[in-house]
Amino acid sequence: MGIHLFWDSRVPVGLSRPVSEELSAVLEMPVSRIDDGIFPLEGFDPVRNQYDAVKILLKLDMFRRRMPQIFKPADMDLDFYNKFNHLHEKILLVTPGDLFEPLADFVFGLAYPKLGVGIVSPHRLQNEFYGKYADDSALIDRLVKESAHEIGHLFGLDHCDNPGCIMYCPRNLDELDRKRKYFCGNCRVRLNGDTPEDELFS
Ligand SMILES: [Zn+2]
Ligand SMILES: [Zn+2]
Repeated sequence: MGIHLFWDSRVPVGLSRPVSEELSAVLEMPVSRIDDGIFPLEGFDPVRNQYDAVKILLKLDMFRRRMPQIFKPADMDLDFYNKFNHLHEKILLVTPGDLFEPLADFVFGLAYPKLGVGIVSPHRLQNEFYGKYADDSALIDRLVKESAHEIGHLFGLDHCDNPGCIMYCPRNLDELDRKRKYFCGNCRVRLNGDTPEDELFS
């Protein structure tokens, strides 16, 4: 089991360490970091001037299969890796592009749980996008929340009604800022893979 934060080096690399360390603390799981490469942006839509997050995720899944040396644990069988690894290793790409998915004008991030891959972009998480002064600590905070949210989806979690919980789905930056960096009790239980009591059957 592992979580890999794949940090495109066009996103300020100085932020990758604080984000991965805080992310690991919020998830209560180890997070490894890859931050010496550029992952191509796919699916550019010239009318929207944005990138299709689904297309990038499909490419990321293909990349993982073709580059087992980057993500495969040394002691794992290659066939097993290709068939089942998405269940064990989760990859979250941090990319500079402004992202959309076909049903939304924009997304802060997107997860594809079936493939075990997710994506997050700082593009609309940074103050500059809204005409305000840059603020690295606010950006780190938002990247941690958004990354933890997408990884939560990769572990099978749905959206949560609690506006303070990481799994709450924010409609805008204010709602993202209002969230806290924690999983509520219900979401934490699901994240840890235990069965919640009210779902036990006799
Ligand atoms: Zn979500
Ligand atoms: Zn929750």
